[in-house]
Amino acid sequence: MTMLGRATRNAVPSAYRGVAIAHLDAPLTEQSLVGYFLGRESYRRTRFIVARGPGDETALLHVSRDDHDSLFAPITAVEVLALPPESAYVVAPDADTAVPSSLAAVAVHRAPGAKAVVVEGRYRHVNFILNPDPIRITVLEVVPPRPAKLADQVQRLLDVAEDLVPMVVDVQATDLGELATEMTSPTYLMPCRGSDATVVGAQVRYLDERPPREDWVLLGCDRSREIHEWFYGDVPPGADVCPRKVAVADGSAALAKCCLLESSIEVDEDKIVVPWGASMAQVREALTLIARAREPEWSAV
Ligand SMILES: [Zn+2]
Repeated sequence: MTMLGRATRNAVPSAYRGVAIAHLDAPLTEQSLVGYFLGRESYRRTRFIVARGPGDETALLHVSRDDHDSLFAPITAVEVLALPPESAYVVAPDADTAVPSSLAAVAVHRAPGAKAVVVEGRYRHVNFILNPDPIRITVLEVVPPRPAKLADQVQRLLDVAEDLVPMVVDVQATDLGELATEMTSPTYLMPCRGSDATVVGAQVRYLDERPPREDWVLLGCDRSREIHEWFYGDVPPGADVCPRKVAVADGSAALAKCCLLESSIEVDEDKIVVPWGASMAQVREALTLIARAREPEWSAV
């Protein structure tokens, strides 16, 4: 017995096998849908029906049967979850419809404002998200390198996260090159050569190469300043680029990396913080923490 109702947020079926598709010739209204499906035999596993009508009409129904044992049995209850004006059918061949965040991404980008978004995705599997309202994660980053690693890790995990509440990711990055042009120094010191950061019209040195001391401006984090002091005995002028210190104003869930964290994840008042070189397992743990904090009640329907 599902508790699903029209108002359930981020509702995604636990397995798309429970979703059937039916084509009707009549316009899709509450009356025509209930009249058509009530008493009609349906497969034991079918819990949801995506109805397609004339034109591109789509509606979404929840159905149940009194007989739970027979392979097929008459539908004894029909709940219309969404009608054509508020339902969208989107063909997105790259979307894995078993992954809630993939469904949410299609909903946000391809059918904003729709109450029910049915997605025909990879392998032509069909699934839906009802009342899409994904958790919005802002990943605080430093670029280059591009793509920003932590944001890329988050997206790669969300692309396969079958058991996590829907989330969509946004990146808020501090650009080392842009920051440098605001500071107008002839020489900059960046944390590492690997970032390949360059500044037009200026010299760039990299701290991890321990270059001979010059009169430079350091664009780095607290750890870079510590290392600088160890190498050269002083802390140079510069700007702090640690993402942990960046504020996120829009109420989204923030995820940052911090140079000072070596192995553990920390929970700040306004963000989750992972080590600078976080593993996929750690990023996954951070996403789980965000999910638990923001949507503790969520589960697939
Ligand atoms: Zn830091």
